[in-house]
Amino acid sequence: MYKIAWCPICDQGWVEIVKDSKTSQLYAYCTECETEWNDPAKGIKEDSCLPFGTFGRFISPTFEEITKSDWYKYIKDSDNKQQTD
Ligand SMILES: [Zn+2]
Repeated sequence: MYKIAWCPICDQGWVEIVKDSKTSQLYAYCTECETEWNDPAKGIKEDSCLPFGTFGRFISPTFEEITKSDWYKYIKDSDNKQQTD
């Protein structure tokens, strides 16, 4: 999975990039409290999270899908990210 931040809501889990299984939209999701964010430009903050349950079922996006999205630069885990800069 692609971790982008430690969750500011529950302080107990990682926020990861996932993909909505119906719309294929990428969004961020806390694995512990299930809080969701859909706008990487706003960051992973308490005041930028979505109402609970905004998205439905999700699947893991491919690395290629992430690199094409704005989410890519927010990936924290260096194991997931190629060192290009
Ligand atoms: Zn959380």
